[in-house]
Amino acid sequence: MTAAPAHAPLLEVRDLAKHYVARGATLRALDGVSFDLARGEVLGIVGESGCGKSTLGRTVLRLVDPTAGSIRFDGEDITALSRRDMVRRRRDMQIVFQDPFGSLNPRHRVAEIVGEPLEVHEVGDRAGRRARVAELLDLVGLASDAGGKYPHEFSGGQRQRIAIARALALEPKLLVADEPVSALDVSIQSQIINLLAELRQRLGLAMLFISHDLSVIRHVSDRIAVMYLGRIVEIGPAAALFDAPAHPYAQALLSAIPHTDPARRRERIILSGELPDPANPPPGCAFHTRCRQALPRCVGEAPLLAARRTATGTRMVACHLHDVG
Ligand code: SF4
Repeated sequence: MTAAPAHAPLLEVRDLAKHYVARGATLRALDGVSFDLARGEVLGIVGESGCGKSTLGRTVLRLVDPTAGSIRFDGEDITALSRRDMVRRRRDMQIVFQDPFGSLNPRHRVAEIVGEPLEVHEVGDRAGRRARVAELLDLVGLASDAGGKYPHEFSGGQRQRIAIARALALEPKLLVADEPVSALDVSIQSQIINLLAELRQRLGLAMLFISHDLSVIRHVSDRIAVMYLGRIVEIGPAAALFDAPAHPYAQALLSAIPHTDPARRRERIILSGELPDPANPPPGCAFHTRCRQALPRCVGEAPLLAARRTATGTRMVACHLHDVG
């Protein structure tokens, strides 16, 4: 398998769906998601808990199998690759989970944890692997003696550094960071975000950075995709989307973030009601039950994600307010 040309997207996701059937109801965790990710690009994926963003990250990596749609990674269609072929492919695509406490084996020393992917994929000899582990610990800002210790001897932020070191061991092209700082103290969050931003620059890593908190992903992301009930409702360049979100749901999420410039402070939009049950989503635009700008047609007609002209350039938005004509 040869890699795709350098200008081709690293990741091409088309109409991706993941449905779960339980007690006769179909839960549409992902319901037709399409996007490209360029090499070295960071795409922030944001939305409330239950919007499908974590399912998206896991499905893209084939940790769960999609119900429909396709995933192309580095020129190869991986949608239906066998488990064995996915093990080979996963060298290039890694994940960092939310919980640095649960994702590290408490009985293994840090050197074993970080070096495990090298062992599994039989990379180098013993001495080479030891040197690589030392290099990785240094890369994520851990002291050289960290390898001899156990996970419980570290703080939450340091454990997330260990998890990041392990994820980078095989020099992946894509890192899925699934709520990587939400289990950490606020004071530590920015250190881990800065570390991921720095690693991305140094290593040319592409990232799907998943978070329920827009303020967390704003500085790391080149583009942002806003998800609601298993679909992308707006996707575009991070700075433009922050300046002028076009979808009413994106506007509500943004309004919760205090603006540093008092002259540009936004009116706080309080979303009424809970996220609807994904097993029984509202008809038409799924956001219409909480949208204060809803039109009569929104109840019966689902808007398509399409290129719309906005105050800060053309962007993909799924909302009838932006329909032309
Ligand atoms: Fe609101 Fe209608 Fe736009 Fe949906 S399509 S976000 S209900 S205005």
